[in-house]
Amino acid sequence: MTKPRIWFNGELVAHEDATIHILSHVVHYGSSVFEGIRCYATDRGPAVFRLREHMRRHVDSAKIHRMDTGYSLDQLCDAVVGTIADSGMESCYIRPVTFRGTGRMGVNPLHNTVETAVAVWDWGQYLGDEAITQGVDVQVSSWQRNAPNTTPGLAKAGGNYLSSSLIKMEAIHNGFVEGIALTREGYLSEGSGENLFVVRDGVLFTPPAAFSILPGITRDSVITIARERGYEVREQALPREALYIADELFFTGTAAEVTPIRSVDHYTIGEGRRGPITAELQEAYFAAVRDADNARGWLTFVRDAAPATDAVAAESDVVAG
Ligand code: PMP
Repeated sequence: MTKPRIWFNGELVAHEDATIHILSHVVHYGSSVFEGIRCYATDRGPAVFRLREHMRRHVDSAKIHRMDTGYSLDQLCDAVVGTIADSGMESCYIRPVTFRGTGRMGVNPLHNTVETAVAVWDWGQYLGDEAITQGVDVQVSSWQRNAPNTTPGLAKAGGNYLSSSLIKMEAIHNGFVEGIALTREGYLSEGSGENLFVVRDGVLFTPPAAFSILPGITRDSVITIARERGYEVREQALPREALYIADELFFTGTAAEVTPIRSVDHYTIGEGRRGPITAELQEAYFAAVRDADNARGWLTFVRDAAPATDAVAAESDVVAG
């Protein structure tokens, strides 16, 4: 089966043709920003979950790093929808990326190109096949999150993921599926690619935006769903040991969706399996991402929204050119 085409600087190109030069700034200095979005199969065909919020975060990430994609938010959303429509896939993971390309060598990126691509692929359960039902075993990482006023946490930047990769590799070497990082002050922050929720006595707790987290769109969706269902959700500072005495713990993220955590540092959490509140929120989340009625307006239906492929390319050429 041929791999889906990739939208690259305004055109859909064959998978193998979406390449960059070795002297691109991004290869040496990590100067990219990216998104991770999911498209779900629904009764109304493929639907992208919270597309505009993701692409807005993308534009924000680019702005923080002084990159102008040259495309409007609408055009970036169209690029995503157009790429999915072109792929013919019913569900997929979507990876928009904007990066500094060629120009001059050296740290200063201001003379280098800014390029944007959108790729789609099939991605199953990010933390393993049984993670969603059985839960995962994790550790507190020896690596801390980036401190405030270092590499900015609100930007979903490629370079930030050197930290995430260290957290993830350490966890895997130690036999865990994922690591939870603390802030510089030792408070709970998040996983290498997921936000974190603690449940105790029926109340949900999660670290606030200022605690070196990426403010996740799944986190926001789960907070909304939990409050709708009458749960109290508190965004507050949480000490490490709040993990060990939690009734339930779970991760949220586009790739991880809602994944229960059954142990941390070999402490059993609750009953050592997915807890009832996690199960309830998981079910509600999975219903929301496939809600053909689109009750919350969170879905963009690809077949309703798909622009003619040529039109996207032509329009973008004008802007980029
Ligand atoms: N934190 C980090 C470090 C992440 O990489 C992600 C995944 N994008 C998240 C949190 C969750 O964000 P979202 O729910 O928007 O995918």
